[in-house]
Amino acid sequence: QLSHRLTRVAQHVPKDAVVADIGSDHAYLPCYLVLNGVVEKAIAGEVVKGPFESAQKQVQQEQLTEKIEVRLASGLDAISPEDGITAVTIAGMGGPLICSILEHGREKLTGVERLILQPNVHAKAIRDWAVSNEWDIVEEEILKENEKIYEILVLEKAQSPVSWSAQQLLMGPELLKHKTAIFQEKWMRESAQWKKIVASMEATAQTIEIVEKKQELVKKIQLVEEVLQREN
Ligand code: SAM
Repeated sequence: QLSHRLTRVAQHVPKDAVVADIGSDHAYLPCYLVLNGVVEKAIAGEVVKGPFESAQKQVQQEQLTEKIEVRLASGLDAISPEDGITAVTIAGMGGPLICSILEHGREKLTGVERLILQPNVHAKAIRDWAVSNEWDIVEEEILKENEKIYEILVLEKAQSPVSWSAQQLLMGPELLKHKTAIFQEKWMRESAQWKKIVASMEATAQTIEIVEKKQELVKKIQLVEEVLQREN
């Protein structure tokens, strides 16, 4: 059975998309998408041999070798224009790694209509990348699994330049509209942690780096607290 996290990622894949799942590990997500009739065919990309072999094994076990191709490659090197990929999923990695995969494979994104990204940490990196590369954030979701909180960001090519406030970049323009209990829990946890870091910085030598880092954290705490204290 697919994890709650990956099931939620799957919900954002459009029906009949041609999907590439990058960093697929066991290829659970593409297998689920095909077995549930969401997509007809998919590519599973993996850069590490062990997970690549696990993906191959899983696809064989599910008898999906006709529909899912497992490829050993780094990032978007796993796909080429002939594949006609319309949706890319990248889940379970840090935001900066997801961004570097998108950045290195930018030319492979022509024709891709939707990116479904699930960063484990630092989703802001993806929002910054989206703004610089003219992708719009059309959906966002926040969920909790095994006490960990995850975000899902769905990007589509922007029709006109997008710009977000510092708060929207940090916390997510769509997530800010709803401020669910999980969202509030995440930001209470984060700001509590930043406050601890700031306190420990107070106790060390005030080098320029420390002072700058502290100012950055204080600013982020303010942004977050403003949202948490606001009525809606
Ligand atoms: N996507 C799955 C999920 O969400 O459960 C697996 C996540 S797993 C933590 C991350 C996977 O990404 C690993 O199997 C790793 O080998 C793979 N990976 C890391 N960097 C990659 C890259 N540049 N290209 C392809 N796969 C990569």
